[in-house]
Amino acid sequence: MTGKGLAIVGLGIAAAAVGRRLLAASVSMRRLPHESETEESYHSAGTRILILGAGFGGIATALELDKRLEARTDTSILVVDKDNSTLFTPLLWTVADGRSNPSNIVVPVRAFQRGRRFHLLQAEVEKIDLDSRQVHTSAGTRPYDYLVIALGSVTTVPDLPGVREHSLIFQSPADALQLRNHLIDALEAAHNSQDPKEDAEWLTFVVGGGGDTGVELAATISDYLSSGLLSQYPWLEDAPVRVVVAGRADRLVPMSDPKSSEAVRRELEESGVEVLTGVSIESATERSVRTSKGDIPARTLFWAAGTAAPSVVSDLPVEHARNGSLIVDDHLRLPGRPEVYAVGDSAWSVDPRTGMGVPPTAQAAEHEGRYVGRAIAAAINGIPTKPFRFRPLGHMALLGRGTGVAQVGPLTLTGPPAWLMWHSYYLSHIPSWRNRIRLLLDWLLAGLTGRETSQLRLETRSGSGETTRL
Ligand SMILES: Cc1cc2nc3c(=O)[nH]c(=O)nc-3n(C[C@H](O)[C@H](O)[C@H](O)COP(=O)(O)OP(=O)(O)OC[C@H]3O[C@@H](n4cnc5c(N)ncnc54)[C@H](O)[C@@H]3O)c2cc1C
Repeated sequence: MTGKGLAIVGLGIAAAAVGRRLLAASVSMRRLPHESETEESYHSAGTRILILGAGFGGIATALELDKRLEARTDTSILVVDKDNSTLFTPLLWTVADGRSNPSNIVVPVRAFQRGRRFHLLQAEVEKIDLDSRQVHTSAGTRPYDYLVIALGSVTTVPDLPGVREHSLIFQSPADALQLRNHLIDALEAAHNSQDPKEDAEWLTFVVGGGGDTGVELAATISDYLSSGLLSQYPWLEDAPVRVVVAGRADRLVPMSDPKSSEAVRRELEESGVEVLTGVSIESATERSVRTSKGDIPARTLFWAAGTAAPSVVSDLPVEHARNGSLIVDDHLRLPGRPEVYAVGDSAWSVDPRTGMGVPPTAQAAEHEGRYVGRAIAAAINGIPTKPFRFRPLGHMALLGRGTGVAQVGPLTLTGPPAWLMWHSYYLSHIPSWRNRIRLLLDWLLAGLTGRETSQLRLETRSGSGETTRL
């Protein structure tokens, strides 16, 4: 297929997705206002469904239950999350590359509630007691008849010499702003330095991890430097800027198809990112990163290899996968506890198609959440359900200005069509028209007036003078 043909396919998919969203919006506009629930009414409900986490998996479960249990007025659905918003992580890259306002990639949970019958408790989940069937939160204890654990994961940095101390991670809007701040600091330091060796260290950016997050992070750093920042330092134009991504596996994004891996490597190398595969990072100091294939003089190391379940999940006295997530059966339930389900990054289930673990992605979390919503509704109505089958839609990666990789079925798109498909898919997928319109305006404005390159410090001071990083 020609580039033009591929662009038409991308636009077609985008138009279909937007049409579907328009239809859904017209339905949701007819919904009634949400009615709030008291703690008492939750306690006294005939069936209490408690969902821990309002991320991709938790919200998908709540929406499916809302649809399926519309007529069951004796059932209460309560979602508990420490935040009242849900973060749309795939679009974090567009904050880090200076195109999106961070508040446009989070959606308040209350915005989903209009006319729906699930409720939100903003509280920290402190302890899950499986034997007494209750959950202790910072806002009190909630019993349950059905429990869905959807508490996501946290990025982990291995305990290698100097690595925790000298690396930055990327998981939240604050990390995205911090990445921009850090790149600006690095260029300013290179500008101030009189020593070419030190210059080179400031201008070398190493990313540890060749999975999805690692490759998109390396591409974002390279893109932000070349599309916005470096133009403000014309005297550094010929300086030796290096962005290096190092992965331990023998190919990038090892969980995706080899064709997709190869396309990712090609696109990254074409945009100037150095790709190291089959290479482990062994240690780091302030001025260098030691790998199994030699030292890289660099003052920046981002860590993007490995996640773990939050401690409230990994502390549960049940079977865990290596990263602390919960091993679930083919109905996504904890073995021996048919009333407890786990979805998303907190769960570890096997895809019978490949015999491998279902990948920790938003796509899988949503798919599992919808399945569990259906399974609980069926269990309440006394109907058996078929086992969970993961049906991946494909794989996409944003790899810098005007490029990316998108694999849908046998079709692998690269370059502008993949970039277009990535933006159309996630724009249509973020569950709020307000966010969609604002993001579209953000991207158009960035195209017209340039990327955001101002440094925004993320620190605040309390009355006692103590400084906190947000
Ligand atoms: C930078 C980045 C980019 C990504 N890009 C993609 C992508 O392009 N495509 C893709 O498919 N996936 C992507 N992912 C992965 C995706 O974000 C996760 O797989 C997905 O969020 C998992 O969904 P979840 O419901 O399990 O967890 P989450 O969506 O993380 O939700 C967990 C929720 O639990 C809450 N929570 C956690 N602990 C507690 C507690 N103790 N008390 C109360 N609440 C708590 C959190 O506040 C959160 O709202 C990306 C991840 C990152 C970090």
